[in-house]
Amino acid sequence: MSENTLQEPKVVSLHRPTAAITLPPAATWPREEVLALFDLPFNELMFKAQETHRANFPDGDVELATLLSIKTGGCEEDCGYCPQAARYDTGVEAKKILDIDTVLDAAQQAKDNGATRFCMGAAWRSPKDRDMDKVEEMVRSVKALGLETCATLGMLEEHQAQRLKDAGLDYYNHNLDTAPEFYDNVISTREYQDRLDTLGHVREAGLKVCCGGIVGMGESREQRAGLIAQLANLNPYPESVPINHLVQVEGTPLHGLPPLDPFEFVRTIAVARITMPKARVRLSAGRRELGEAVQAMCFMAGANSIFYGDKLLTTDNPEANDDRALLEKLGLRTRGAVLESVQKESCGC
Ligand code: SF4
Repeated sequence: MSENTLQEPKVVSLHRPTAAITLPPAATWPREEVLALFDLPFNELMFKAQETHRANFPDGDVELATLLSIKTGGCEEDCGYCPQAARYDTGVEAKKILDIDTVLDAAQQAKDNGATRFCMGAAWRSPKDRDMDKVEEMVRSVKALGLETCATLGMLEEHQAQRLKDAGLDYYNHNLDTAPEFYDNVISTREYQDRLDTLGHVREAGLKVCCGGIVGMGESREQRAGLIAQLANLNPYPESVPINHLVQVEGTPLHGLPPLDPFEFVRTIAVARITMPKARVRLSAGRRELGEAVQAMCFMAGANSIFYGDKLLTTDNPEANDDRALLEKLGLRTRGAVLESVQKESCGC
């Protein structure tokens, strides 16, 4: 069934016509093959996704990542889904960059709650060099706590990616957001190619890539397939693939869209799993809206990472206790627990 039979997308075109983006010459996943996966009968798609998942993640664990907004609001960009864009009246107050102690306290708390990765997000178009000094100090200090580090700071130049690598950063998050031809309906202040360029700088610096997108922004199923094809054809594909379900925030241009059919979200997770078999596919924003049953289906479809904690950057996230209860109900172990048991098994005590 095509997406247009599920919902009539509201046209939220912010801007100009799209420049053509070409796939790498030997695309591993032509878009039509990705779309064919989306079009499979639901049970068949879930079966294929489970097969891929079990073959590549025999432990079946779920990674817990905690996200902290180190610099909130006041962003000059115009991402149509984002409450942190200064131009939208969303009630998000612009704040200065957090001090190092606040970040370290949050990281320690995340670790104590079982998170293995700590992601620091800043609402910037791109970081200024004076910001980089502070972020590097945060990265070094968080890493010293024994957590994997991730940062999302906007567009990066080559030398900035290198500085983060030198500070010990493990992952850099920069999302493609959507399919190239839908992109201009959502953002005008940076090009799709700018995003690809940043991802290139991140890879060249030797950082691992966290890159995904948002679904439910009024795009068609074919455009969701286009997003997944873009991600899967990055060479190599990202180590982490966050799939966000649009959280509609009042005051943003995307508020008021018809909601995406939840099965379509589960299908997107399954197709991401099949096309990027070794990636951590992360359930990110919008989990609260999905409810437990749909989240459970997402885990069956191959999601094996969640953002964990009470808040994402500015929107609510299921509380940590609810997350633990859900994982327990489903009998899912966390990555931290699996690592701990491996360490114990290999310990001579
Ligand atoms: S998504 Fe990031 S770059 Fe876009 S407006 Fe929000 S904070 Fe700024």
